[in-house]
Formats: sequence, structure tokens, C-alpha cells
Amino acid sequence: MSENLSGFAYLIASVFFILALRGLSSPETARRGNKLGIAGMFIAVVTTMADPRVGSFELIVLGVLIGGFIGTIVARKIEMTSLPQLVAAFHSLVGLAAVFVAIAAFYSPEAYGIGTVGNIHTLSIIEMSLGLVIGAITFSGSVIAFAKLQGIMSGNPITFQMQHSLNAGIAVIILVLIITLINAQSDNIFWALAFASFIIGFLLIIPIGGADMPVVVSMLNSYSGWAACGIGFTLSNPALIVTGALVGSSGAILSYIMCKGMNRSILNVLLGGFGGGAVGEGTADKGDQSAKAGAADDAAFLLKHASKVIIVPGYGMAVSQAQHALREMSDLLKAEGVEVSYAIHPVAGRMPGHMNVLLAEANVPYEEVFELEEINHEFSTADVAYIIGANDTTNPIAKTDPQSPIAGMPILDVDKAGTVLFVKRSLSPGYAGVDNPLFYADNTLMLFGDAKKMTEEIVQALG
Ligand code: NDP
Repeated sequence: MSENLSGFAYLIASVFFILALRGLSSPETARRGNKLGIAGMFIAVVTTMADPRVGSFELIVLGVLIGGFIGTIVARKIEMTSLPQLVAAFHSLVGLAAVFVAIAAFYSPEAYGIGTVGNIHTLSIIEMSLGLVIGAITFSGSVIAFAKLQGIMSGNPITFQMQHSLNAGIAVIILVLIITLINAQSDNIFWALAFASFIIGFLLIIPIGGADMPVVVSMLNSYSGWAACGIGFTLSNPALIVTGALVGSSGAILSYIMCKGMNRSILNVLLGGFGGGAVGEGTADKGDQSAKAGAADDAAFLLKHASKVIIVPGYGMAVSQAQHALREMSDLLKAEGVEVSYAIHPVAGRMPGHMNVLLAEANVPYEEVFELEEINHEFSTADVAYIIGANDTTNPIAKTDPQSPIAGMPILDVDKAGTVLFVKRSLSPGYAGVDNPLFYADNTLMLFGDAKKMTEEIVQALG
């Protein structure tokens, strides 16, 4: 394939990727977005294979078969709630790929047309160094993120004295090593740069706590994009440059959206401290308060006699996969003339769009699903708020206690509803580790149990 033709094909692939991102921004168009992304990737792969510089297809086909096989198995088996760690694991591979490309280009620059061993063009060695550094940081950072999310290591922040100074010192060393590598292209400097980058990736992620990990995964997603972008320059591959930049910028935007949803600054997240320390340390004073517990029959009665019900799903709905039972419940209520809608908090669950995807899977009509700012004023006119496996996203402490780890986070004003039904297994706090005083409120009825089982019992009682 001529260079002009392959350039054009890569451009078409890039347009497909941009359209894919656009499609993925709404549950209604997400499937189409996914298909466009697959089409773009197909064009990019075929164009690359048709490059006359590709000497042998055996290894490529073997790689595609092995990777495709593992990817298919993992994608079919993965639980929705484990997606953050899966994403972290996959990002680590992108980072490692960037490191391998940098190593290959450093030792065989002729193959890439970027000079000769020890005499690589200045611009190319800069691009290569950046690909190596960002790739190595992405790799070791993602491995730690995976280990924390998977429970292989403690999710609590690991902090020690002079941590920030140590990180700053290593960052300076990395900068000096890059400058030295540009001037003297020695093996030792190259490997020292790789080593220092792996170490700083590790050090940057260990102080970050459990509840902040999804933001970190999204940041690492962004890093992996920039690493791919760096490799794109080394390989003179425009599709990789564009795709890397798209992943880099969309990951950064996603991190920003998550931080905004939690009312945190990105710097505050990246410097660590929140999330892990708070987990399990309830802060609300329960005193001698007690929570009222009810059964499925009580809930069915209240729901059936309501004229307006707002359902608030959270992480627990995802854990128990209660979305189908929930849809059945709302169908029965709608048949009784009850107005039913769903309120989605921007950080409900463990990743952005988590709830939307599950509700879409259960065929909940999109027009019944509202974002926080669209529906929050409606709770005061709702007879029942049905909170299913959500907790932090409803906790009024966020508004009243400036010392709380969730202080300032916008919350769903469920307490304004006539009756608040909380479906969860216990009085345990949510991910941020903060007790929820709503459990003890006069208008709250706790429905203790698994979200799916309890909702199915309510469906039975309604039927
Ligand atoms: P929370 O983590 O606050 O609460 C979930 C609740 O679900 C728990 O209190 C748990 O209580 C209950 N639960 C767990 N399993 C079940 C089950 N099988 N059946 C019934 N209940 C169950 O969830 P939210 O969705 O309200 O809030 C999300 C949290 O995650 C926030 O703190 C947010 O900041 C954080 N986060 C989210 C991100 C995102 O992008 N979505 C990103 C970063 C952080 P019990 O054990 O008693 O059952």
C-alpha cells in the first residue's frame, strides 16, 4: 500500500474513532459507538498489515490469536463490578508495549528509519524517551492499581515521611536522564531512565486510597493514551498518534468529571490520602439512635399506594445484579398508575455510567432515567425514594460536616421524599466509609437484605 493511501486509510480510521467516542457518550448510541470503534480498528489493523515494511505475518497472526483468545475469555467472564481492575490490568499492557517499542527502537533505530545505533535523531530520541517514561509509569502504576482494586494488596493509602520530596527528586532525576540520553545515547542511561520511571509509577500510586482508585484508573488510561501517542511518533504512525491523543484526552476529561462528581480536585486525588483512610471509619455519631427495619410486604404496600416513586440505584444494585428485578418492579408499579423514575448520581457505582449501563441492559426506558441535576428538585414531591444499594451518594453529611471525607460532594436529596426505603444488607457505610444518618431518620425504613432478593420479594408481594 502506498504511503498516501495508508495515510488516507489511517485518517478514515481516526474519524471512526472520533465517531465511536461520540457514540459512547450516551447509552442510547453506545452500541453504535462500539461498532464504529471496531470498524476503525479493523481499518487500522488491515492498513498496518498492508505496510510493505511488515516482513513476516506469522508473529502478528500468532499475537492476534493469543491476545484475541485471552481477551474474549476475559471479556465474557468479567463481572461488571470488576471492570475497574480489568481496565487497570489492560492499561499496564499498553504501558509495557510502549516500553518494548522504545527498547526495540533504541536497539534497532534503522528499522524505524530514525538513525543508527548511538546516533538516533534528536527529535526521535526525545519522543522515544517520553514514550519510555510514560509507558513505564503507566505499567507500574497500573499494576499497583490492579493489585489494590483486586484486593491483592491493601487498598489503604501507603504514606511515609518525605514522600512528596522523594517523588520530586526522582522526577528531577528522570529529567536529567532524558537530557543526558539525548546527548549520550548509552545503554546504561537508557536502562536507568526505564528503572527510575518504573519506580516513580509505583510511588505515585501507593499513597492513593481505595475510593479514589477509579479516578486513578482513569488517569492511567490517559497516561496510556499519551504513551501510545509517543510510540506513534517513534513508529511514524499517524493512526497511533491520533488514537493515543484521543485516549489521552478522553481519560483526562473522564478523571475531571469523576473529581467534579465527588467535589475533589484532581491534585487532591493524585497527592493521595482520601478513600482508604476513611474506609470503615464511620464518622456520624449514632448515639442511641436505632433504625426501623421493614419487610418486602411493607415496602410493596408503600410503593403501591404512592403516586410518585424515584429509584436511586448504587453499587449494591450492581453487586447483586438487581436491575432486572428492579425493572419488573417498576413495570408493576407503572401498571398501577404510579409515576416511576430513576435518579443517577454521577459517581454511583464504581465507574462513570455504571448504573446507566445496567439499567439499559434491563431495558429500562432511557426517558425514565435522569441525572442528579435534572431530578434532584423532584424528591420533595416524591412519595417514596427507593434506594437500592446506594449509600454515599445519598449521605446528607456531605452537606453538613465540612470535616467529612465526602464534604461538598453533591448528593441526591432523597431525605426530602415522603418515605425513604433503603435496600441494603446492613447498616455498614459505603465506599467512603462514612456512616449515613439517613438510616436513622423518622421517614426511613430499612429493607435489610440482598438488593435482588429483596426486590424480587417486593415484586411477588405486588403481583
Ligand atoms: P456506596 O459504595 O456508597 O454504597 C453501596 C452500598 O451497597 C453499601 O453501603 C452496601 O451496604 C450496599 N451493598 C453492597 N452489596 C449489596 C447487595 N448485594 N445488596 C444490597 N446492598 C448491597 O455506593 P454508591 O453507589 O452510593 O456510591 C459510590 C461510591 O464510590 C462513592 O463513594 C463514590 O465517590 C465512589 N466512587 C465512584 C466512582 C464512579 O465513577 N462511579 C469513582 C470513584 C469513586 P451493605 O454492605 O450494608 O449491603
